[in-house]
Amino acid sequence: MSAKIIDGKKVADLTIANLRKDVEQWVERGNRRPFLKVVQVGNDPASSAYIGSKTNACKKVGIDTDTTHLPDTVSAKDLKKSIIQFNNDDSIDGILVQLPLPSHLSSHDVIESIDYRKDVDGFHPMNIGRLSVDQPTFKSCTPAGILELFNYYSIPVKSKHAVVVGASNIVGSPMAVMLSRENNTGKATTTICHKFTRDLTTHTISADILIVAAGHPNLIKAEMVKEGAVVIDVGINRVADETSERGYKLVGDCDFDAIREKASWITPVPGGVGPMTVAMLMKNTLLAAKKSIYPD
Ligand code: NAD
Repeated sequence: MSAKIIDGKKVADLTIANLRKDVEQWVERGNRRPFLKVVQVGNDPASSAYIGSKTNACKKVGIDTDTTHLPDTVSAKDLKKSIIQFNNDDSIDGILVQLPLPSHLSSHDVIESIDYRKDVDGFHPMNIGRLSVDQPTFKSCTPAGILELFNYYSIPVKSKHAVVVGASNIVGSPMAVMLSRENNTGKATTTICHKFTRDLTTHTISADILIVAAGHPNLIKAEMVKEGAVVIDVGINRVADETSERGYKLVGDCDFDAIREKASWITPVPGGVGPMTVAMLMKNTLLAAKKSIYPD
C-alpha cells in the first residue's frame, strides 16, 4: 500500500481564501479590519521564520498585524507591562507571544497575562479549560488544523484508536482532548504517550490514527505503525543537509518514506500540518475580532 498524501498546504490555502472572503465581508459591513499583535522576545531565527509565515498569512487574509520586538533580556515585569497595554488596546483583537521564551521568563505566567479573549493561540488556561469541557473556545491552532484535515479528507475519527505521541500543552495534550471528547470531531478512544511511556511501539502499533509531536527526527519507524494507519507528523526538526544552500533541511518525527508504504494517509513535512497551524491562527483572529467566542 502507498499512503495518500494529506496536502496541508492545499487545505490551508483554501481555508485562507475562504477567510479572506469572510474578512472582506466583515470590513464591508463597516467593521474595523481585524488586528493581530505579535510579540517577539529576542531574535531566535526559527521564531523569526515562524512569525514571518504568520504575518505573511495575515496579509493574504486581510488581517492587519505588527510585531513588537523586545530584547531577550526583557524582565518579566516589563514584558507583562507591554502585554497589559495590548490587552487594554481596543484596536487589537488577537495577541500572540511567540514561543519559546528565554529561560528567565515563565511561559505559563506570560500566557496567563494575555487577556483570554485575545488569546488566539488558544494556550490560556481559560481556553484550554473550556476546550476540555466542550465550550466555545479558541482552539489550539495545531490540533485544530489536524481536525480540519480529517474533515477535508473525510478521514473518520469516531470509535477509532487514536494514539498521540507527545503531551505538550500546545500540541499533544489539546490534541488528545479534542480527539477524545464525545462531540462531532472527536469520539476516538485516545492514548497519550510521552517520553516516560514504556515501550512506545506497543501503543503506536495499535493506532488507527497516529499523531506524532515529539520533536525527534526518525522517532517513528515503519515497524511501529499498523498497516493502513493514518499518520500525522507534527514534528519540525532541522537536520544538517550539505546539499541545501542553507545547510539544513526540515524533517518530521516519522520515517516518511518507509511509513508511506504501510499507512493509508500521511502528512509530509514540510507541507503537512505546519500550514494548517497558521491558517487556524487566522481563523481564531477573525473569531476574536467578531467576538464570536466571548461576546461583550
Ligand atoms: P515539546 O518539546 O513541548 O513536547 C514534546 C513532547 O514529546 C513531550 O510531551 C515529550 O514527553 C514527548 N517526547 C519527547 N521524546 C519522546 C520520545 N522519545 N518518546 C515519546 N514521547 C517523547 O514539543 P512541542 O512544542 O509539542 O512540539 C513537538 C514537535 O512539533 C516539535 O518538533 C515542534 O517543532 C513541532 N511543532 C510543529 C507545529 C506545526 O505547526 N507543525 C506546531 C508546534 C510544534
